[in-house]
Amino acid sequence: MGSGRSHLEQEPELDSIEEETGFSRANLDRLHHRFRALDRNNKGYLNRMDLHSIKELDMNPLGDRIINSFFPDGGQCVDFRGFVRVLAHFRPVKENRDDNNPHKPEPLNSRNNKLRFAFQLYDLDCDGKISKKEMLQVLRLMVGVQVTEEQLEIIADRTVQEADEDGDGAVSFLEFSKSLEKMNVEHKMSIRILK
Ligand code: CA
Ligand code: CA
Repeated sequence: MGSGRSHLEQEPELDSIEEETGFSRANLDRLHHRFRALDRNNKGYLNRMDLHSIKELDMNPLGDRIINSFFPDGGQCVDFRGFVRVLAHFRPVKENRDDNNPHKPEPLNSRNNKLRFAFQLYDLDCDGKISKKEMLQVLRLMVGVQVTEEQLEIIADRTVQEADEDGDGAVSFLEFSKSLEKMNVEHKMSIRILK
């Protein structure tokens, strides 16, 4: 017991990290262990290569794009706070505490924020719409080589068409979330990261 403060306790802004991400102290402690294990040279931050050594991300067809979201504004490194902020989107919704408090900001793992996170993985040029081309690029990453380029284009066109309510040929965030209304996003976007 108690050989001084844990590594986590030395993290600045710990209370506000806890509040922002919704992770409990125990979860943050585990994530901090993971962070330090990934931080091979003890730099205090992670770069893209460090994140590629997370198997769940490296194996994910959209892993590259997910890894990009750790580096907003084209940065090269992510500190502990930035690291857990991205991971918070994957926290299961049912773990939310005091959801009824209207003064709390919307948690990062709300359905809406999970959808926003997913949407920006598609919308590479950040114009607020998923074009047919962007849809095609994601499909290409997700499906295997057994599907021809022609078939993929047909699927991409159809997927965009089905979601495209205002007929501008692209999928806005609103159209995106409507088309996923029946899907259990909360479940799909929950990854067990605390193994
Ligand atoms: Ca776009
Ligand atoms: Ca549209």
